[in-house]
Amino acid sequence: SYVITAPCVADYSCVEVCPVDCISPMPDDSGFDAATQLYINPVLCVDCDACREACPVNAIFAEDQLPEKWLDYIGINAAHFQSH
Ligand code: SF4
Repeated sequence: SYVITAPCVADYSCVEVCPVDCISPMPDDSGFDAATQLYINPVLCVDCDACREACPVNAIFAEDQLPEKWLDYIGINAAHFQSH
């Protein structure tokens, strides 16, 4: 799967290019601003690399190429989709 990390500014470039529509914002009832971070559903992602290329701030990485400081984001992305 691909993973969205801390630099995300939620401009939705990735959402527009994802062929399987597996990128979503934080739900409005989460207590967070929905416009600050997007998440990739690891079950649906087909590793096409389109989102990584489209991201204006280089916030998206293949899971096996994640910088060590952002390894937590594997779980953060996945947890987003387990909660609802
Ligand atoms: Fe969607 Fe492809 Fe990015 Fe996976 S790698 S989230 S399928 S655009």
